[in-house]
Amino acid sequence: MERGTTYKPYRIKMVEPITVPTLSERVERIRAAGYNVFNLNADDIYVDLLTDSGTGAMSQAQWAAMFIGDESYAGSRSYARFQEATHDIFGFSHILPTHQGRAAENVLFSSVVKPGHIIPNNMHFDTTRANIIANGGEPVDLVIDEAYDPGADLPFKGNMDTGKLEALIDEVGVERIPLVMMTITNNSGGGEPVSIENIRAVSEIAHAHGIPFFIDACRYAENAFFIREREEGYAEKEPIEIAREVFSLADGMTMSAKKDGLANIGGILAMNDDGIFAATRERLILMEGFTTYGGLAGRDLDAIAVGLREALDLNYLRDRIGQTRYLGDELTEHGIPIIQPVGGHAVYIDALGLLPEFLQSQFPALSIVVALYEQAGVRAVEIGSVMFAHPDENGNVVYPKLELVRLAIPRRMYTRTHLDAVVDGMMEVASMKGDLPGYAITEGSGPLRHFIARFEQVPRR
Ligand SMILES: *Cc1c(COP(=O)(O)O)cnc(C)c1O
Repeated sequence: MERGTTYKPYRIKMVEPITVPTLSERVERIRAAGYNVFNLNADDIYVDLLTDSGTGAMSQAQWAAMFIGDESYAGSRSYARFQEATHDIFGFSHILPTHQGRAAENVLFSSVVKPGHIIPNNMHFDTTRANIIANGGEPVDLVIDEAYDPGADLPFKGNMDTGKLEALIDEVGVERIPLVMMTITNNSGGGEPVSIENIRAVSEIAHAHGIPFFIDACRYAENAFFIREREEGYAEKEPIEIAREVFSLADGMTMSAKKDGLANIGGILAMNDDGIFAATRERLILMEGFTTYGGLAGRDLDAIAVGLREALDLNYLRDRIGQTRYLGDELTEHGIPIIQPVGGHAVYIDALGLLPEFLQSQFPALSIVVALYEQAGVRAVEIGSVMFAHPDENGNVVYPKLELVRLAIPRRMYTRTHLDAVVDGMMEVASMKGDLPGYAITEGSGPLRHFIARFEQVPRR
């Protein structure tokens, strides 16, 4: 692909005004927010790269579909359209809507995971991990070692290490593994893709042991695009053909429709197994709603049915992945270290690469996030010690391997002008790097502290 994107497959019909507070206003607002960007209001922000989840722009076809939403409690026409689209793409015999991806995970794991069970994955997303633990299971990450090296430039850096999977199955036994999972693309590992060859190998290993194989499909369309671009034999295939081949290797899936469903809310749980379906159907009715709406309005099901297909449009995918690549290439060109290669939905700045002297106990990635907001009104998110540092058995703090600043790009929302503002902001931050303050927590603890913590600025040690 050319650098960035050269062809824009849509134009703007409806606009949403955004405000740009002045520099001094931004400095005041982030201070009042306790230096936590989760405490900022949308009105405080120019370019919001907090997440790509549910934040994208819907198309005219999706908005039009919402007007024919059928709000019948059971058996709605909206469900029929949702069922038709999901069956066509994913092929599973049982398809249940949920209100988000984590609800699909909760319904699935509360049905199949018992205390002592182990769920392998290339890398569990945080809600997946939490739902497995909440049901007494143990999530295990088996991604290839290179995934942890920010400089290792591999085409499919999200792949699972199949040797590790076989070793785990031999070690703990099939009885303790109710299913094997794979997350495409690998969100927690930088949005890096997984090859179809690797998906096939994992599927074969799981099936050789009689273990069901499920896909966390949040970014299945982006992953299909990478397969088309990078894997031998797929350059001429349509993304939908690639997606069908991927899902034909699996026994089921969970998905957040807020990602490649191009919707603002929604989730999917699907499988072939009648036994798992019977169990999950009951949990769904208990926790989400009847099987034909699962916690969503009929109109939401219609938006998803249209969005799932739009996400597989090649021109859309070129633009989408092209935007992420453009931002990554521009930052790299201006000397900002990022995780390579650039993945599908976000660019990850390597904070310790930019600030090697900065102590992890003083939250270097947070310091960049705050400075980027102050300088440019851009909201990024810290994925480092605020999120992951935790005490070990002896009370010593264990710090994560990487201190990252994630710039997640909402779908179809921003133009190159907005992305250039992010690059300009980061260049400003990099020029101030000797003066960036350290931070200390004044409020908030525990594994979810990043959402609620408050901080104060402290001199750097
Ligand atoms: C977002 C996400 C989820 C959870 O989906 P929600 O809709 O936010 O609950 C699960 N897995 C992956 C890989 C995700 O990116």
